Amino acid sequence: MRKVPFITREQAEQIDSKFPTPFYIYDERGIRENAERVRKAFSWNPGFREYFAVKATPNPYIMKIMQDYDFGFDCSSSAELVLSDAVHADGEHIMFSSNDTPDEEYLQARSLGAIINLDDITHIGTLDRLFAGKFPETMSCRYNPGGVFRMSNGIMDNPGDSKYGMTKAQLFEAYEMLKARGVRHFGLHAFLASNTVTNEYYPQLAGQLFELAAEIHGALGIHFAFINLSGGVGIPYTPDGTPNDIMKIGEGVHEQYDRILVPAGMGDAAVYTEMGRFMLGPYGALVTKAIHEKHIYKEYIGVDACAANLMRPAMYGAYHHITVLGREDAVCDHLYDVTGSLCENNDKFAIDRMLPEIKMGDYLYIHDTGAHGFAMGYNYNGRLWSCELLLKEDGTVQQIRRAETLQDYFSTFDTTEFASALGL
Ligand SMILES: *Cc1c(COP(=O)(O)O)cnc(C)c1O
Repeated sequence: MRKVPFITREQAEQIDSKFPTPFYIYDERGIRENAERVRKAFSWNPGFREYFAVKATPNPYIMKIMQDYDFGFDCSSSAELVLSDAVHADGEHIMFSSNDTPDEEYLQARSLGAIINLDDITHIGTLDRLFAGKFPETMSCRYNPGGVFRMSNGIMDNPGDSKYGMTKAQLFEAYEMLKARGVRHFGLHAFLASNTVTNEYYPQLAGQLFELAAEIHGALGIHFAFINLSGGVGIPYTPDGTPNDIMKIGEGVHEQYDRILVPAGMGDAAVYTEMGRFMLGPYGALVTKAIHEKHIYKEYIGVDACAANLMRPAMYGAYHHITVLGREDAVCDHLYDVTGSLCENNDKFAIDRMLPEIKMGDYLYIHDTGAHGFAMGYNYNGRLWSCELLLKEDGTVQQIRRAETLQDYFSTFDTTEFASALGL
């Protein structure tokens, strides 16, 4: 599908005059239309809830949009719990799906009344110590079936290599232990494949989890309040990909539900999701300006953003489509590497990419960076975090996080010795 920016060159110029590049911008209309589709796709399940994966785009303004659809928040750290509390999410709307979890974070999650999803059976002992015998009424366990997760279109992932979740045998034992500690309602959670661009993933995962839940229900007689399909629903980063059809995905999960859970007498179970990428990915862009061109053995375009602003290409070799704003329809007849300034040669947003001719001062719109984009930023080379902007439905632009300053960057030094030199 042709990738179309949600802002024009004129808009970029206007925004740049107030909030200089590089900046992240999110499209409120796109986010809302997609959220509404998600709600509709699972409306057959009265208890359905999406717990937006906060780590994808940890910004309270984005989280508040999610709340208009009664979505909750999937958190895996203290900061994410604080953000959920800051937007007044109640415990029922907070899923704490962490791993390698520090004690304090279990206590923090407990005090917010969050639903705790245990990554490992040893954490029950941890909670014995921390909760002094008072376990929450509802708790969840994360499953890892091991081996390889395959779909019929050839897409696969490797749960057997992943650090998350419990084995099947541990899962049975964990539920029994939790039941003995007074827990009355249970959840089952699994995340078996990432960025799946197929309508098959959730239905196939749901089939596995529903059957397992029915088996555990039969064996232990415990009540499953929810099955959590977690994240992993992907987006096509390349223009030749076909986006997932969330209505078809919802229908596929519905079929499995009617086939497995309803006959097992478990038709009151809620279906939960924890999507991040699918909720925000396509509705965010990193906009950066061309500031250098360099002709050596290859043609380089240097921009004012770098991998510290968007790590995915450097970290995973991820493809992000680039549009030169104002030249949307121009022929792509120039071969470029588009680079940032880090002293790391993997700081390239594109390698050997055919693009229209780029002139200095042009705005490069890096697509599909709404999730796991800004969030994965860092400060290498003393590069600072950009601002985050929200393009509202009425066309106005709201700054939802200001750009970091050198003062912010230096503020964690004990500055008595260098204070004035550092501008503090
Ligand atoms: C990262 C994560 C998600 C979100 O994954 P996406 O691929 O962005 O949908 C959901 N749940 C858990 C536990 C995660 O770690």
